[in-house]
Amino acid sequence: MCIFCKIAAGEIPADAVYRDEKAMAFRDIDPKAPTHILVIPTRHVASVAEVDDALAGHLMTVAARVARDEGLDNGYRVVTNVGADGGQTVDHLHLHVLGGRPLTWPPG
Ligand code: 5GP
Ligand code: ZN
Repeated sequence: MCIFCKIAAGEIPADAVYRDEKAMAFRDIDPKAPTHILVIPTRHVASVAEVDDALAGHLMTVAARVARDEGLDNGYRVVTNVGADGGQTVDHLHLHVLGGRPLTWPPG
């Protein structure tokens, strides 16, 4: 089982902020911004290259809900890394929700 599957199963602890039957959200262990939350599907999906429309839409909705609950009224970023050049280090789809400071564009 991959590390995020283990988090979804409760086998590895995480600071969860949201959970439903298809998705969960928890705080990144190494935050890159004052708020840094990861939104994942509870079933294993490797990346956004593999996801179906319904689940992709649901994850986006959860990301927006988490951002609202975190009070990111001044704006935030939702990003997902794919593959080596994209900087993906965990091969289980996750949306990063980053906020709480101005974010530079484009990312490096
Ligand atoms: P990626 O580099 O794949 O886009 O993002 C993976 C993210 O997962 C990184 O920001 C990293 O800090 C986070 N991460 C890796 N392992 C764990 C873990 O065990 N728990 C939590 N909460 N975050 C993790
Ligand atoms: Zn997984």
